[in-house]
Amino acid sequence: MDDRTFRNAMGKFATGVTVITTELDGEVYGMTANAFMSVSLNPRLVLISIGERAKMLNKIKESGKFAVNILSEDQEELSMLFAGQIQEKRDIKFEPLEDLPVIKDSLVNICCKVYNQYVEGDHTLFIGEVTNLVLRDGTPLAFYEGKYREIVG
Ligand code: FAD
Repeated sequence: MDDRTFRNAMGKFATGVTVITTELDGEVYGMTANAFMSVSLNPRLVLISIGERAKMLNKIKESGKFAVNILSEDQEELSMLFAGQIQEKRDIKFEPLEDLPVIKDSLVNICCKVYNQYVEGDHTLFIGEVTNLVLRDGTPLAFYEGKYREIVG
């Protein structure tokens, strides 16, 4: 199996899209991620996976906290921006929740403190303990076979 086949196979798993945010020394950082899952109810834990080359990796290691912002269908541009797919600098308005900056009008904002971390291959898995969350109605942005999708019906 080559890398392309592996990537294509993983792309068959349809997901939502999140932007992970954190703050370090008064500066806000964001990164698009779809490697997100719920892990445990008691305690309330979630998981994100961050690549070794992502600048976000050290930001979370140093801040010890992150927020997961689950994007709605009309936030595709934000996903592209925080994935580096739109190059121009944009002034994004973040809102405070707990001690974290979160993305306005996302479907869900989940605040976490780092509970554990595991380096596995070229990614680090962060387990986050959920400290607060905010939910809104709406339709999620979906990602499948490397493309943004609409959820119909
Ligand atoms: P940068 O490349 O510095 O930041 C990314 C972009 O966000 C830059 O354009 C930057 O200008 C912008 N940005 C950051 N902070 C701000 C701010 N405060 N205000 C305005 N703009 C800002 N990678 C993973 O490791 N794990 C995943 O689960 C994952 N899932 C992905 C899912 C999708 C659908 C896509 C498209 C990409 C995914 N990626 C994932 C890749 C990842 O999003 C990119 O590699 C990203 O560019 C890495 O960001 P970085 O931390 O290196 O920071």
